[in-house]
Amino acid sequence: MNIKSRTDEELGDFTYYLSQYDFQIKYAPGKDNLEADCLSRNPVLETNENKKEQLKIVNLIKLDDILTDQKNNEEEFSIKLIKNIHENLCHIGIKQMQKKIGTVYTAKNLTKNIIQFCKNCGICIKNKSRGNDKFGLMSHLGPARKPFEIVSIDTIGGFGGSNSEKKYLHLLVDHFTRYAFILTSKTQSANDFVKLINNIVDTDEIGILLTDQYPGINSKEFKRFLSEKSIQMVFTAINTPFSNGINERLNQTLVNKIRCKINEKKNKLAWTTIAQECVNRYNDTDHSVTGFAPRYLLYGTDVSILPHELKEGKKTEMDWICDREIAYKNTIKSHNYNKKLFDKNRKDMEFKVGDMVYVENGNKLNRKKLDELRIGPYKIIERISNSIYKINTGHKKSESNNFHITKLIPASTLDGVEPVELDFETNNLEKIACPGGGDVKNII
Ligand SMILES: [Zn+2]
Repeated sequence: MNIKSRTDEELGDFTYYLSQYDFQIKYAPGKDNLEADCLSRNPVLETNENKKEQLKIVNLIKLDDILTDQKNNEEEFSIKLIKNIHENLCHIGIKQMQKKIGTVYTAKNLTKNIIQFCKNCGICIKNKSRGNDKFGLMSHLGPARKPFEIVSIDTIGGFGGSNSEKKYLHLLVDHFTRYAFILTSKTQSANDFVKLINNIVDTDEIGILLTDQYPGINSKEFKRFLSEKSIQMVFTAINTPFSNGINERLNQTLVNKIRCKINEKKNKLAWTTIAQECVNRYNDTDHSVTGFAPRYLLYGTDVSILPHELKEGKKTEMDWICDREIAYKNTIKSHNYNKKLFDKNRKDMEFKVGDMVYVENGNKLNRKKLDELRIGPYKIIERISNSIYKINTGHKKSESNNFHITKLIPASTLDGVEPVELDFETNNLEKIACPGGGDVKNII
């Protein structure tokens, strides 16, 4: 072995060591033998001359210059770094950002800047289903203190085919007793809703009617009927089923009962007959929230399945009044529980006219999987109530521009938005003059 190009001590030792073996050297280019090639260059024995680095003469720079330069560059570099990492790693969240950057790099306000950057990233706000702050607390009417103080109506479609040409089940429920009335029909017209309400107004007065905005309900004919009967109408905001939770749950309960009955007997009865039967049974069953059967709470009717001989004395009218009070207290308890669950991890928020917000893009059911979850930012043009804002989304239909506060995210959030304790009023309605119309329009 004969190596002349290098004469240093390490190579000398190595040559001497290898000389005890009998072997041949075969050349392999570095690109075919990367591991060995890498090792052969390490350690680098040549001196590092740092030719590129231009050193300034220290005496000519004041301490202030150094501090200013550091401060400017640090701030700029830090923000650039945050932006690059956040975007390159597919919009990672605050904790992952801190881990990625904080463990290898430090700068003034680094954590604050990371939080600020992530919370204000428009792409994240519009496209992520998790991780965004949630704003706005649960709001709904009531609870009602007596029968028919508040009722709500709703329509369920899609029933056609089961031995009837009718497609719709219109449902009216009394919030105090949970008593339900139904009407089945082929249409969704004002007349259907009038008939349904006439079940009650022949004998009792209705205070407030809570409803979604169906064409039949928005008609002049229906509004005239309500004004004759002195019924105040309150609309729920779009895509907020929780605003009308009582109806929402009853819908599911009833449809489940009807489905059970239809498929249990495979009988030839029309679904409309079965629906009426199911509502009657529902009205006779103890309600999981009030603890009493709706029929008993409304009329005092005995709905027990016990034979007469086994009943411990008939309930008196006094018992009935006491039970209604218990039902009311149970409803409040349930309401408070639901509100606590819903408001958990939500921040109370009040927006001002002119604030910019992102809004929910339609709803879960009509959105494609990869559509933006939120759109905007848009400007708030009117505060309609505690929880409803009118927003300039460019939508032609006026009511499509009314959004529930829980569907909004502020376009610029500063950290430290403190939750404010909300005083829950029994009746949190706000009367709003309808522009152009002169009548009163309420939305929750
Ligand atoms: Zn982002």
